[in-house]
Amino acid sequence: MAKKRVVIDANECIMCGACVGSYPDDFEFSDEGVAIPITGEADEESVDVCPVGAISFEE
Ligand code: SF4
Repeated sequence: MAKKRVVIDANECIMCGACVGSYPDDFEFSDEGVAIPITGEADEESVDVCPVGAISFEE
């Protein structure tokens, strides 16, 4: 699956873990508890797993 550059809005993330659980190679939790992209790139379908729309493609 194709990977794209993504960003996570830390103010929107509710720390549900959906992205980390579904795409553990792409996302992890920061020390603050919010999700962050590990490399900056993630599976393009990962934007759909976030229930609050906090993951988006980088412009
Ligand atoms: S799926 Fe969305 S709300 Fe849940 S941890 Fe990931 S970025 Fe945060």
